[in-house]
Amino acid sequence: MTFLYVIARPRLVGAEAISKSMSYEIVIGLEVHLQLNTKSKVFCGCSTNFGSAPNTQTCPVCLGFPGSLPVLNRQALELGAKVAIALNCQIAKEIRFDRKNYFYPDLPKDYQISQFDQPLAQRGILNIITGESEKKIKIRRVHLEEDTGKLFHQKDHSLIDFNRSGMPLLEIVSEPDMNSPEEAYLYLTALKSILEYIDVSDCNMEEGSLRCDANISIRKKGDNALGTKTEIKNMNSFKGVKLALEYESKRQAELLEGGKKIIQETRLYNTEKCVTEPMRSKEEAHDYRYFPEPDLVPFDFEESFLEKIHKGIPELPEPKRNRFIKDYRLSNYDSAVIVSDKDTADYFEKCAGLYGNPKAIANWLTGDVFAYMKENNVLIKDLNLKPEHLSDMLKMIDSGVITGKIAKTLLIEIIATGADPRRLVKEKGLEQISDVSLLEATTSQVIRENPKSAEDFKNGKENAIMFLVGKVMQQTKGRADPNKVNEMLREKLKGVK
Ligand code: ADP
Ligand code: ZN
Ligand code: MG
Repeated sequence: MTFLYVIARPRLVGAEAISKSMSYEIVIGLEVHLQLNTKSKVFCGCSTNFGSAPNTQTCPVCLGFPGSLPVLNRQALELGAKVAIALNCQIAKEIRFDRKNYFYPDLPKDYQISQFDQPLAQRGILNIITGESEKKIKIRRVHLEEDTGKLFHQKDHSLIDFNRSGMPLLEIVSEPDMNSPEEAYLYLTALKSILEYIDVSDCNMEEGSLRCDANISIRKKGDNALGTKTEIKNMNSFKGVKLALEYESKRQAELLEGGKKIIQETRLYNTEKCVTEPMRSKEEAHDYRYFPEPDLVPFDFEESFLEKIHKGIPELPEPKRNRFIKDYRLSNYDSAVIVSDKDTADYFEKCAGLYGNPKAIANWLTGDVFAYMKENNVLIKDLNLKPEHLSDMLKMIDSGVITGKIAKTLLIEIIATGADPRRLVKEKGLEQISDVSLLEATTSQVIRENPKSAEDFKNGKENAIMFLVGKVMQQTKGRADPNKVNEMLREKLKGVK
């Protein structure tokens, strides 16, 4: 028997495929559905409360009974306009709704009231920060529509909850201006930050108050025409969106590399396997037969209505970030991190009004305070740390009352007890050791007890000093000034400073 050895050309997979295909450009456009936090639904008076028992928040309108009539919720319109203004969009002169017709069990009327050719707003801009530079992502349109019911598929039947039917949704559609999964991620975080600032939605992807469909195609670098896109659904976090897009860009690159075509289709992201899988192809796409909703008459915005909304918009993250850089001399990075959440930005400014070193506040905030919040899963607004207390603690470090090391543990103690830091320092005896003779004695003792390290340092092993400093800090429970200790040790070991 003879064996025939065939040397196969390895199939390109994953990262290899995309690195081979560095000649491709990724193109991404996102469609975000946002549940607006109105008290009642968009075309009826039913409550929008999340988590109520199934089908308890329904009425003839949102159940699609024949003869029932929709009435537009003024608050939904206000919130929609607020988003449009915050995203620098042009608002439509005339507000009109259209019927989007299709059959599906979660849609009892067989049509969804939406907006077709005359959306609430168009042509907006959202700035994202990529590294040290900025990029403007164009917003194509923002329109108002109603949500559908929610299906729960069981083994051999499906259940439906109409509580979600008629919830106000705002669809925000970007232009295909993003060129990497990372940019899509930045777009979503920047968008969420703005939406939270203007307080229009919970923006909770897990609870479904923010949903994102991601459209992606690739093309040869330098090409003008867009490639064939796929649309990905079913991601439940911003990270998920990024991962799905990473997978999908590689999949598309592999197809093109293999001489195959990309099929225009909708794909579902499988969060367990981290892959995208086909859901439906373009051939199955619907013709929605849009036509103007006859039960809602078109109308104009009054100038005063829009003016009032304008006035209700607070300073947004981007201008705030620029102001923080200018007024507080924070780095781009620190200010971006701090302004991304309005409560954090407000907290920072309160501290900055009490204590004159904004950089130190930023360091502590983004360092130890954030770490504590993350570990204990608390938001800054629920954190038991008054701006006065953080500021006092920083002042005590500056004036030498406590060491930076002690401050780290003191911070946790303040948060745990809510007590005044000055009182805590007194009660627990946390003051920095100012008694030089005590430091002299401790450093000498540490040298005696660690002859090997002392010898190492004398022989030029610079690192050995850090070990000895650490020992002294241990002995003094962090109450010694490490710089001073370092100096003293050096003097004793080498006779030099
Ligand atoms: P559809 O009719 O399939 O919904 P649209 O043209 O309305 O497609 O666009 C929907 C979204 O897809 C928008 O966010 C848009 O920016 C994006 N998009 C459109 N074409 C492409 C493409 N070739 N590649 C990537 N994204 C695209
Ligand atoms: Zn209702
Ligand atoms: Mg689409």
